[in-house]
Amino acid sequence: MSRSTELFDKAQQFIPGGVNSPVRAFKSVGGNPVFFQKAQGAYLYDEDGKSYIDYIGSWGPMILGHNDADVIAAIEQQLKQGLSFGAPTALEVAIAEKVCSLVPSIEQIRMVNSGTEATMSAIRLARGYTGRDKIVKFAGCYHGHADSLLVKAGSGALTLGIPTSPGVPAALAEQTLTLTYNDLSEVESVFAEVGDQIACIIIEPVAGNMNCIPPTQGFLEGLRRICDQYGSLLIFDEVMTGFRVALGGAQALYNVTPDLTTLGKIIGGGMPVGAFGGKRDIMQAIAPTGPVYQAGTLSGNPVAMAAGLATLNKISQPGFYTLLSAKVQKLTEGLESIANKVGVPLTTNRVGGMFGFFFTENEAPSRFDEVMACNLEHFNQFFQQMLQHGIYLAPSAYEAGFISQAHGNEEIEKTLAAAEASLSSLT
Ligand code: PLP
Repeated sequence: MSRSTELFDKAQQFIPGGVNSPVRAFKSVGGNPVFFQKAQGAYLYDEDGKSYIDYIGSWGPMILGHNDADVIAAIEQQLKQGLSFGAPTALEVAIAEKVCSLVPSIEQIRMVNSGTEATMSAIRLARGYTGRDKIVKFAGCYHGHADSLLVKAGSGALTLGIPTSPGVPAALAEQTLTLTYNDLSEVESVFAEVGDQIACIIIEPVAGNMNCIPPTQGFLEGLRRICDQYGSLLIFDEVMTGFRVALGGAQALYNVTPDLTTLGKIIGGGMPVGAFGGKRDIMQAIAPTGPVYQAGTLSGNPVAMAAGLATLNKISQPGFYTLLSAKVQKLTEGLESIANKVGVPLTTNRVGGMFGFFFTENEAPSRFDEVMACNLEHFNQFFQQMLQHGIYLAPSAYEAGFISQAHGNEEIEKTLAAAEASLSSLT
């Protein structure tokens, strides 16, 4: 019996489903999750000593690759100064200033401990600031697991077939209007009816929790216009896309400035961090300057801030994103040409350092229903084959893939060779 299997058996005794986050459980792809011991660069090493090229990157944060020497040095330096003070530090001022300089919409920022906290707090702020209760989100977008947002959600909720969770009060879920991604006319007609009751639209500006779906031309601009017209706030949930699709996030890439932005993943460099920020006058509504309450014992934790700041400093180097996008391009174009060669219908999407691939004969999807219509059986077989070949993809057809600075030509070539063998064996 492998050590992973042994550990999974034991884990299930003490942890629900043996995992601390549902999509890790391999429920939709079948088989048991791999237990990892260590990671370095583009590679993960499991408890049985096998290595894998990693395209999950801890679900996004590890944009520099695992154990980046500068990030580790920054953490080590902070460790010697203390783990947590629950009081202000110079580091949190430095990272706040850095993020404000990088992300167009952010004039002020508040640090939290996860993406879920960031979106939950941003929604509360939008409701408190506008005095309205309804919010608009899009089917297949995932914004963490706060009650208002766990309605027709993507990611693990979608993978496990429970997009709206029991335990979310109906009275609260009713306040969440869920619309179709990339369908502006639907947004327009809903706002025409109840626009004056809508506090905000929250959206992943590139959807990464129903695979990888970029916005169609004019969609984000249209949302901006509608929010302005009805006095609602536009929230870009850039927990995934922030520092991933471009240094200034999707808002810089598409040149659409939201009122509020949520961040997570890369901003913590692998430590548990989230953040929300935006226009100064809106952010001033948060306690202690304003009445909307939000707090956190470990928020702005110095070790996490050190990791985040070191990461942001490195990704701010000129040329970083050109190189990262070129790697994704090589990977996705390679996948498409191999699939074509072996006769398997497959298309891809990519934006900056994130990508998705779809088993479909059609154009790459731009809508949720098109994602759901892809060949799930082919995805699951491909996933298992790639795992055998030492390529670690997300264990779900509804997740985006991520590449890091540490992925070199060698890793991409190995991945494409594994893909050729795997695609050829699909039944
Ligand atoms: N928002 C988006 C776009 C995400 O992708 C995620 C997590 O994947 C979250 C929010 C929630 O973040 P966390 O898992 O850190 O709570």
